[in-house]
Amino acid sequence: MRRPDNRSNAEKREKRERREYTRKKICRFCTDSSLRIDYKNYRLLRTFLTERGRIVPRRISGNCAKHQRELTRAIKRARHVALLPFTALPK
Ligand SMILES: [Zn+2]
Repeated sequence: MRRPDNRSNAEKREKRERREYTRKKICRFCTDSSLRIDYKNYRLLRTFLTERGRIVPRRISGNCAKHQRELTRAIKRARHVALLPFTALPK
């Protein structure tokens, strides 16, 4: 048996309208061609890490697939040479 959809039309409309307020995410690397993904540039890479050292997912960072892939490789490379943490304790 299907679960009845108990949300009212007003609620659905509200949700749709709220969606319009969320900023359109853009890939920082596509917009700014001077930004190069390099494992040695840990200052830049660090902005794509969470407090605990995890890589920020694409749906949050707004990166395109190509650049997220490059970024992930760079971060993993930077971790290997100890420029970035694998993990961190919360403050
Ligand atoms: Zn991109």
